[in-house]
Amino acid sequence: KLVSREFKNEDSVIDVGGVLVGGPQLTVMAGPCAVESRDQLLESAGIVKAAGAQFLRGGAYKPRTSPYSFQGLEEKGLEMLAEAGAATGLKIVTEVVDIQSVAVVGAYADVLQIGARNMQNFQLLKAVGKSGMPVLLKRGIAATINEWLHAAEYVMSEGNYNVMFCERGIRTFEDYTRNTLDLSAVAALKNLSHLPVIVDPSHGTGLWKLVRPMARAAVAGGADGLMIEVHPNPSEALSDGSQSLTPANFRGLMNEIRAIAPVV
Ligand code: PEP
Ligand code: MN
Repeated sequence: KLVSREFKNEDSVIDVGGVLVGGPQLTVMAGPCAVESRDQLLESAGIVKAAGAQFLRGGAYKPRTSPYSFQGLEEKGLEMLAEAGAATGLKIVTEVVDIQSVAVVGAYADVLQIGARNMQNFQLLKAVGKSGMPVLLKRGIAATINEWLHAAEYVMSEGNYNVMFCERGIRTFEDYTRNTLDLSAVAALKNLSHLPVIVDPSHGTGLWKLVRPMARAAVAGGADGLMIEVHPNPSEALSDGSQSLTPANFRGLMNEIRAIAPVV
């Protein structure tokens, strides 16, 4: 299999417009859960950049549990992401939820995010494979490591080897946390695959107080990078405020992980 260490033993390093993912330096992708407004996004981008991260995250198309919850600003949100990226030099990672929007998201973003709910949307995986763009493949809510590897294989089988895994927690009996962050998956994937592994302790725990310790654990455990939700004012966030870090907490996280591994 293309995803496996048998196919390629050396670690894959993915070049996202000059920013290397999976190399000696950690990659940090941070920003709000959703793009809410131009001001909110530009402020977030400034915070993320100043703290030393390389990527701005933010959803323009939001896969919400309820159809009555904020669904995202769609193409307007993509325009804001591109503006924030151009203003700061941050690379943009944002979710693509369906085949029809692969082209428009690809026109504004540097990395296409496949959300947990779409990890086994095989038509979408083939479409992002055909796009040739870097792909951040989040783990399905109840996906085994084997199923996740096969999802990556769907993208790679289209000739696109620019795939990064993102562990974001799985559904277990535990309901204190939103999900159970499976850090053993990082070590398992690093053994089985040459592709980079990113950890998202924000969705992985659902609780901002747990994000910094789990980020440190992920880095110590060999993750190639982190995806972190940060909001200028978490209590006013339109989605995932309870797991979003304040700017000060995000700066604290960056300082802590720098003590464990180098960040650009
Ligand atoms: C997100 O990153 O905002 C998101 C919706 O994540 P997940 O697909 O992991 O739930
Ligand atoms: Mn979120």
